[in-house]
Amino acid sequence: MKFIFADSLDVVDPNYDFASDSFAPGRKAYWGDRYPHEMMNPAPYDGVLVSRGIVGDHRFPGKYSSAQSMRFRRVGARQFLRLEAPRFASMPIFGDSGAFSYVQEEKPPYTPTELLEFYADAGFTHGCSLDHIIFDFDRETHGLVAGSDHARRRFDITLENAREFLSLARDLGPSFSPIGVAQGWSPSSVAESAARLEKMGYTYIAIGGLVPLRAEDVHRCLHAVRGRLSWDTRIHLLGFAKAEQIDDFARYAPTSFDSTSPLIRAFKDSKSNYYVETETGLEYYAAVRIPQAIENPRFMRAVKVGSLDSDTLLRLERHALESVRGYDRGTVQLDTAVESVCEYGSLLADDPSAGSRSRLKLAAEIRIATARTLKDRPWARCPCEICKQVSVEVVIFRSSNRNKRRGFHNLGVFFEHVQRLLGKEIARDSFQIPRRAGAAEC
Ligand SMILES: [Zn+2]
Repeated sequence: MKFIFADSLDVVDPNYDFASDSFAPGRKAYWGDRYPHEMMNPAPYDGVLVSRGIVGDHRFPGKYSSAQSMRFRRVGARQFLRLEAPRFASMPIFGDSGAFSYVQEEKPPYTPTELLEFYADAGFTHGCSLDHIIFDFDRETHGLVAGSDHARRRFDITLENAREFLSLARDLGPSFSPIGVAQGWSPSSVAESAARLEKMGYTYIAIGGLVPLRAEDVHRCLHAVRGRLSWDTRIHLLGFAKAEQIDDFARYAPTSFDSTSPLIRAFKDSKSNYYVETETGLEYYAAVRIPQAIENPRFMRAVKVGSLDSDTLLRLERHALESVRGYDRGTVQLDTAVESVCEYGSLLADDPSAGSRSRLKLAAEIRIATARTLKDRPWARCPCEICKQVSVEVVIFRSSNRNKRRGFHNLGVFFEHVQRLLGKEIARDSFQIPRRAGAAEC
């Protein structure tokens, strides 16, 4: 089971100055920045997925600048992602059409030929067919009954595109693996889509549309799909947002899945920001929130209306940072560090005045989360390059360079977790729908 990291230009400045919160002098964005696989050894994933929607073009701008987008196609994905070193030689580079970027359109804005040209220009090793996302999921319907006209139209478009894509992909030769994307409005229609792709000749099938689904519905879909496909047909879980629950999904024997979740949760999750692997699996710590006084929009608003003054903000911010760093060095007590973070962070309350109800409530929440993280010092035990280099800065929720480094660390922990999972026996004949997903026939 391969973990494919869905990249969206996630890089850090390797020489970022944490003391002054500034980029290295003369830093050149992207050129001087580093990807996770450049910061960590071994790389924290088996391969990378780049979505056409992230690269973008003149019709649908992505995250890349137009110069980057053109260079990506010109020099190829491997050079652009700096995956040229011998240690990355066998690393696959997956592509997909980025169906979320055109979900509102009647039909995909590209043709299968255009998508294949994109894959060929950039030298992808694996490419997903041109799908169209179906949103109205109905777990109760069986067979191909039901499904709105809208859903059926997208189901047909996805399969027609896949047929054309496969016949064109044969021209690219054996160095390119076409992957057929299955879409549906119910477990059985997703399974039907997958079965038709297999019949067309696909030996690698991606299950799309999983992102918004609840875990039990993903189980229903994969159960139905596995029941229709040969065990020799490989399955990819496309945009698998539930990466941390991969243990539960291993029973369907996916060959690969792509996700960005371990990186994203470092700065988007309210509590689970820093990953650790324990005997019982993944566990999470909250990051220590010390936002930037002069950049936080909420603080700026409060200063503008006069409920906070910037001198106080800067003084408490400095005190929180120094206390946490002092705690890391062993010169500041745990309680002092925790209270300094609470005093500063609780200024984000609706009413930041001393003793206000909202401020006391927020302070109590910050106290619990921060005390647990600082007391356990998980960064001090982590052997990864990120934690060794930047120590406690990795758990501080502040600026992209800390937050993404924490995401890189998470990728490393998650990748090891997947490796460990592979060591456990996953017997094919133990394949069964989990009890908690219900006993619905698909
Ligand atoms: Zn680490």
